[in-house]
Amino acid sequence: MTVVSVSMPEELLDSVDRFAEDHGYTGRSEVVRDAARNLLNEFEDSKLEGRSLMGTVTVLFDFEESDVEHEMMQLRHEHEEMVTSHVHNHVGDHYCMELFIVEGGLEEIATFVGKIRATQDTLSLDYSVTPVDHIDGTA
Ligand SMILES: [Zn+2]
Repeated sequence: MTVVSVSMPEELLDSVDRFAEDHGYTGRSEVVRDAARNLLNEFEDSKLEGRSLMGTVTVLFDFEESDVEHEMMQLRHEHEEMVTSHVHNHVGDHYCMELFIVEGGLEEIATFVGKIRATQDTLSLDYSVTPVDHIDGTA
Protein backbone atom coordinates (compact mmCIF):
# COMPACT_ATOMS: atom_id res chain seq x y z
CA MET A 1 0.00 0.00 0.00
CA THR A 2 1.06 3.56 -0.62
CA VAL A 3 1.08 6.06 2.23
CA VAL A 4 -0.53 9.38 1.32
CA SER A 5 -1.17 12.51 3.29
CA VAL A 6 -4.65 14.00 3.14
CA SER A 7 -5.68 17.35 4.53
CA MET A 8 -8.97 17.52 6.36
CA PRO A 9 -10.58 19.79 8.91
CA GLU A 10 -9.94 18.92 12.57
CA GLU A 11 -13.63 18.14 13.28
CA LEU A 12 -13.82 15.71 10.37
CA LEU A 13 -10.72 13.92 11.55
CA ASP A 14 -12.18 13.70 15.08
CA SER A 15 -15.37 12.22 13.65
CA VAL A 16 -13.40 9.72 11.58
CA ASP A 17 -11.44 8.63 14.66
CA ARG A 18 -14.58 8.32 16.74
CA PHE A 19 -16.27 6.35 13.94
CA ALA A 20 -13.27 4.01 13.73
CA GLU A 21 -13.45 3.36 17.47
CA ASP A 22 -17.23 2.89 17.57
CA HIS A 23 -17.36 0.56 14.60
CA GLY A 24 -14.39 -1.68 15.21
CA TYR A 25 -12.10 -0.31 12.50
CA THR A 26 -8.37 -0.74 13.07
CA GLY A 27 -7.83 2.97 12.54
CA ARG A 28 -8.57 6.04 10.46
CA SER A 29 -6.85 4.63 7.36
CA GLU A 30 -9.27 1.76 7.22
CA VAL A 31 -12.22 4.15 7.52
CA VAL A 32 -10.89 6.35 4.72
CA ARG A 33 -10.25 3.32 2.46
CA ASP A 34 -13.73 2.00 3.12
CA ALA A 35 -15.33 5.39 2.49
CA ALA A 36 -13.41 5.79 -0.78
CA ARG A 37 -14.48 2.34 -1.97
CA ASN A 38 -18.11 3.07 -1.15
CA LEU A 39 -17.99 6.38 -2.94
CA LEU A 40 -16.40 4.86 -6.04
CA ASN A 41 -18.91 2.02 -6.07
CA GLU A 42 -21.86 4.30 -5.90
CA PHE A 43 -21.86 5.41 -9.50
CA GLU A 44 -20.11 2.37 -10.92
CA ASP A 45 -22.79 0.02 -9.82
CA SER A 46 -23.21 -2.35 -12.78
CA LYS A 47 -26.77 -3.00 -11.62
CA LEU A 48 -27.61 0.60 -12.54
CA GLU A 49 -25.81 0.86 -15.86
CA GLY A 50 -27.99 1.11 -18.95
CA ARG A 51 -31.15 1.36 -16.91
CA SER A 52 -33.79 4.04 -16.44
CA LEU A 53 -33.29 5.70 -13.13
CA MET A 54 -35.01 8.23 -11.00
CA GLY A 55 -33.24 10.11 -8.30
CA THR A 56 -33.24 12.97 -5.87
CA VAL A 57 -30.44 15.47 -5.50
CA THR A 58 -30.43 17.80 -2.50
CA VAL A 59 -28.12 20.79 -2.22
CA LEU A 60 -27.82 23.08 0.78
CA PHE A 61 -26.20 26.50 0.71
CA ASP A 62 -26.15 29.80 2.57
CA PHE A 63 -28.80 32.11 1.27
CA GLU A 64 -26.35 34.98 1.05
CA GLU A 65 -24.40 33.01 -1.56
CA SER A 66 -26.64 34.16 -4.37
CA ASP A 67 -24.10 32.87 -6.90
CA VAL A 68 -24.93 29.34 -5.87
CA GLU A 69 -28.62 29.94 -6.47
CA HIS A 70 -27.81 31.29 -9.89
CA GLU A 71 -25.59 28.30 -10.65
CA MET A 72 -28.36 25.90 -9.61
CA MET A 73 -30.73 27.67 -11.98
CA GLN A 74 -28.21 27.36 -14.81
CA LEU A 75 -27.74 23.65 -14.17
CA ARG A 76 -31.45 23.10 -14.00
CA HIS A 77 -31.83 24.63 -17.47
CA GLU A 78 -28.78 22.85 -18.86
CA HIS A 79 -30.29 19.52 -17.83
CA GLU A 80 -33.87 20.39 -18.51
CA GLU A 81 -34.73 17.08 -20.16
CA MET A 82 -33.57 15.19 -17.07
CA VAL A 83 -34.68 17.42 -14.18
CA THR A 84 -38.39 16.68 -13.97
CA SER A 85 -39.05 18.71 -10.86
CA HIS A 86 -37.24 21.28 -8.79
CA VAL A 87 -38.01 22.77 -5.39
CA HIS A 88 -36.31 25.73 -3.81
CA ASN A 89 -36.90 25.73 -0.08
CA HIS A 90 -35.75 27.88 2.82
CA VAL A 91 -34.37 26.11 5.85
CA GLY A 92 -33.60 27.76 9.18
CA ASP A 93 -32.61 31.43 9.22
CA HIS A 94 -30.33 31.63 6.28
CA TYR A 95 -30.14 28.45 4.29
CA CYS A 96 -31.51 27.56 0.90
CA MET A 97 -32.18 24.02 -0.13
CA GLU A 98 -32.54 22.94 -3.72
CA LEU A 99 -34.23 19.62 -4.35
CA PHE A 100 -34.00 18.21 -7.85
CA ILE A 101 -36.02 15.22 -8.98
CA VAL A 102 -34.22 13.66 -11.91
CA GLU A 103 -34.99 10.94 -14.41
CA GLY A 104 -32.39 9.56 -16.75
CA GLY A 105 -29.41 7.28 -17.17
CA LEU A 106 -26.55 6.78 -14.76
CA GLU A 107 -24.11 8.84 -16.78
CA GLU A 108 -26.38 11.85 -17.16
CA ILE A 109 -27.24 11.85 -13.48
CA ALA A 110 -23.58 11.43 -12.51
CA THR A 111 -22.65 14.37 -14.76
CA PHE A 112 -25.31 16.55 -13.18
CA VAL A 113 -24.20 15.62 -9.64
CA GLY A 114 -20.57 16.21 -10.64
CA LYS A 115 -21.37 19.73 -11.82
CA ILE A 116 -23.13 20.49 -8.55
CA ARG A 117 -20.19 19.12 -6.62
CA ALA A 118 -17.89 21.43 -8.57
CA THR A 119 -19.99 24.46 -7.60
CA GLN A 120 -18.25 26.68 -5.05
CA ASP A 121 -19.82 27.48 -1.67
CA THR A 122 -22.38 24.71 -1.39
CA LEU A 123 -22.67 23.31 2.15
CA SER A 124 -23.89 19.83 1.42
CA LEU A 125 -24.84 17.59 -1.47
CA ASP A 126 -26.86 14.40 -1.16
CA TYR A 127 -28.33 12.16 -3.81
CA SER A 128 -29.85 8.79 -4.30
CA VAL A 129 -30.87 6.86 -7.40
CA THR A 130 -33.36 4.04 -7.90
CA PRO A 131 -34.03 2.02 -11.08
CA VAL A 132 -37.54 2.50 -12.43
CA ASP A 133 -37.52 0.19 -15.45
CA HIS A 134 -38.35 -2.81 -13.34
CA ILE A 135 -40.04 -2.14 -10.02
CA ASP A 136 -40.98 -5.28 -8.16
CA GLY A 137 -40.85 -4.02 -4.62
CA THR A 138 -37.78 -6.01 -3.66
CA ALA A 139 -35.36 -3.14 -4.30
ZN1 LIG B 1 -33.39 30.82 -1.37
